[in-house]
Amino acid sequence: MSDIKVSALRHVYSVGTPFEKVAIDDINIEIPHGQFVGLIGHTGSGKSTFIQHLNALLKPTSGTVTVDGEDINADKISAKNVRYKVGLVFQYPEYQLFETTVLKDAAYGPQNQGFSEEEALEKAREALVRVKLSEKYWEMSPFELSGGQKRRAAIAGVIAMNPKVLILDEPTAGLDPKGRDELFDLIRELHEKMDMTVLLVSHSMEDMANYVQRIVVLNHGTLMLDGTPSEVFSHVQELEQVSLAAPQVTYLMKDLEKAGFPVDTTVTTIEEAKKEIIKLC
Ligand code: ADP
Repeated sequence: MSDIKVSALRHVYSVGTPFEKVAIDDINIEIPHGQFVGLIGHTGSGKSTFIQHLNALLKPTSGTVTVDGEDINADKISAKNVRYKVGLVFQYPEYQLFETTVLKDAAYGPQNQGFSEEEALEKAREALVRVKLSEKYWEMSPFELSGGQKRRAAIAGVIAMNPKVLILDEPTAGLDPKGRDELFDLIRELHEKMDMTVLLVSHSMEDMANYVQRIVVLNHGTLMLDGTPSEVFSHVQELEQVSLAAPQVTYLMKDLEKAGFPVDTTVTTIEEAKKEIIKLC
């Protein structure tokens, strides 16, 4: 069974007003358990609207969203339960932090799930260790942390609830390259070790190519492309038409091919490109 099944999903904002806007238009998609999926699309393509449907923050205008076999909009109980199954880390997760200490913040979710204070704190400690936030920060206010540490604290607050699906909206926005790489490495590790499905929204094609197994491209609220990074990035022209691009290294391979070198142009990461270039020597 798929973790997530979205059928004929449509979302219209401000229905019946002059500001009416179709943000999601007939999206059908299934995400099996354990997949690491990247979601891309230019600003306004519907990414944020889409992910908010996956944990019932928004209700579909029409269509259904099924999580773990259950229609999450069927009743109020389903909507509440789905928040524990599908954890959402917002774009600037620092706004998700509100308790007086990092530890209490991470314990907030499990406590809401009905665990005792001590159990919730234990789950919080485990989650903080998983995100590699050292113990010396646990009694500090979340607001005293650096940008990267705040992201880790926000992720800990979500994984402390042991979700089946983890959704991260541009988790590295505003971080420097080192902080970005460290956070992506952490997300990969969480995906591998916690048996979670991960859906990651990112603008960086390089990061998508490096980390995810499947890329879904949205355009004007519709599903434009869906496949492995190599499959999706082979549609360079279509991506460029919607102001997206393939990773730099894919362009390099195409240039090499044009110059007469027999290289694989479906390459999307630097590691793969290195192997192709060494083969030429
Ligand atoms: P993305 O996350 O890809 O930038 P969004 O899901 O935020 O896209 O937006 C999709 C479309 O819906 C855009 O045209 C946006 O202007 C519109 N939209 C988003 N939120 C609202 C809202 N609360 N009210 C009206 N229109 C909205």
